[in-house]
Amino acid sequence: MTESTHDEAHGGSLGERLNWLRAAVLGANDGIVSTAGLVVGVAGATDDRSALLTAGLAGLLAGSMSMAAGEYVSVSTQRDSEKAALAQERRELRERPEAELDELTGLLERRGLSEDVAREAAVQLTERDALKAHARVELGIDPDDLTNPWHAAWASFLAFTAGALLPLLAMVLPPADWRLTVTVVSVLTALALTGWSSARLGAAAPTRAVLRNTAGGALAMGVTYVAGTLLDVAGA
Ligand SMILES: [Zn+2]
Repeated sequence: MTESTHDEAHGGSLGERLNWLRAAVLGANDGIVSTAGLVVGVAGATDDRSALLTAGLAGLLAGSMSMAAGEYVSVSTQRDSEKAALAQERRELRERPEAELDELTGLLERRGLSEDVAREAAVQLTERDALKAHARVELGIDPDDLTNPWHAAWASFLAFTAGALLPLLAMVLPPADWRLTVTVVSVLTALALTGWSSARLGAAAPTRAVLRNTAGGALAMGVTYVAGTLLDVAGA
């Protein structure tokens, strides 16, 4: 459990929105770095615009679909385990309601309520919706609002695609003499921006995040460019 996602019963929706935003920024960042590395590498080997376009588009589609599939699988798995936990909770509430009431009372006490107040709160929460109370207090999930795997998959597909479009367009739109400069400058600028945003969203120090992120992108482009040039020299 990280402190930002758990133990924030009333701040949950804001925390959730921040998590989505952070995931979107990271997805875009992945799209920028991997597609930039790809098109810069191909540019090291050839001047052919249609080869650059083909490589960039293939990289965009492969990357965004793999991100979406990965996200779908991971959110589905998480959802399955949340559903299993809810089913077990439902069974326990049916089979031993007294023990469950004690458990809820204890959990509320640990959150800072006095014994009497915790007991009273547990009784009222149990009368209103016992399963929801246990789901929220004990499991830290909202049974009415489990993350939809399709939404998560779409979100990462779109985030990666948005990021990947930048190096792709920067590479194929300008005249041949300018394409590398335009790509490198726009990619490093965009990475500074995504590094800064994700640091701010995670309440971390922005300067180091910006430096780390742009250095990573520069390294990726440098390595693939050298590899592309070597392949070209070797006549591959
Ligand atoms: Zn329980």
